[in-house]
Amino acid sequence: MTLKIGVIGTGMIGRDHTRRIQQVLAGAEVVALSDYNPDAARAVQADLAPAAKVYERGEDLIAAPDVDAVLICSTGATHEAYVLAAIAAGKPCFCEKPLATTAEGAKRIVDAEVAHGARLVQVGFMRRYDAGYWMLKDVVDSQIGAPLMVHAAHRNPAVPEQYVTPMAIHDTLIHEIDVFRWLLDDDYVSAQVVFPRKSRHAHGGVADPQIVLLETKKGIRIDVEIFVNCRYGYDIQCQVVGEEGLANLPEPMAITLRKDARLQNAILTDWKDRFVDSYDVELADFVQAAARGTASGPSSWDGYVAAISSDACVEAQEKTGQIIPITLPDRPALYD
Ligand code: NAP
Repeated sequence: MTLKIGVIGTGMIGRDHTRRIQQVLAGAEVVALSDYNPDAARAVQADLAPAAKVYERGEDLIAAPDVDAVLICSTGATHEAYVLAAIAAGKPCFCEKPLATTAEGAKRIVDAEVAHGARLVQVGFMRRYDAGYWMLKDVVDSQIGAPLMVHAAHRNPAVPEQYVTPMAIHDTLIHEIDVFRWLLDDDYVSAQVVFPRKSRHAHGGVADPQIVLLETKKGIRIDVEIFVNCRYGYDIQCQVVGEEGLANLPEPMAITLRKDARLQNAILTDWKDRFVDSYDVELADFVQAAARGTASGPSSWDGYVAAISSDACVEAQEKTGQIIPITLPDRPALYD
């Protein structure tokens, strides 16, 4: 059976996921496209999915009888309404991060999915599908004893003028927030943010770099450097220190070049290249589960917890140096 997919939002990531479904993965095809800007949907149709129907309204795409499952790739503020519509229609949906722009919105999705009684939503936290994080998790689970500390960094070469300080949490740290819960099988109890000396390359609206300190229920201390104007490349670092040893996230595969009396490894500059394989694996997982009428991988609950945790981190930015508690509600049995 070929899963018939509708894609809402045909900008950068919607186009890329459409390419993925049409040209990389087996078992699914894009039969419907919708975007606030119909010209964008028609351009993706022309380039990648000539047989797909273009809908003016995402709600009509979700309701279309020939659409089995939905990819929600529109702007973050639109996600909640589309995910709720997909759940109401009983259709599996893959929602790019964030699940919703508020914790209350994410909770409404969790409530709707729990009322439905089965998982339908996968959130686009693709790092859980990255081969390097898989290897790291395997070692953390089996070889270094109890994890005690995590030292991490999320560095981008530069960010545009519209990138402001809270986006370092909502758009950048959000991936660490999710992947460390999964890596450590733990939840956060507090957040604190401190700001080192500001880089002269950071524009006026963003405090950069910043250091986020998270504490987990098990007492693990995590420090994450966010440095979005680091100039030299896109660089994701993660080191887990355990009772018996220490494990590092592998570097992306790169040619080691010996030349001109130097030993060199290229560093990536574009985040899309760093996780390109994990996007393929996450959508393959979605297609497989959706074909069975359900969802797997990062859940609405994970999206909700990420929203609560990132709200606490933004509060910690605003109250620099203060420790902000993170309190989570009880997890519904659906997500055990
Ligand atoms: P983008 O290029 O701006 O594309 C978003 C598209 O959605 C635009 O074409 C936009 O149209 C359209 N849109 C806006 N409101 C809509 C609505 N109500 N219904 C249907 N379409 C609507 O943004 P993007 O970079 O692809 O990001 C999209 C989402 O994916 C964001 O939530 C982002 O955080 C997430 N994302 C995740 C990752 C990841 O690593 N997992 C990476 C990139 C992006 P207009 O331009 O006319 O407004």
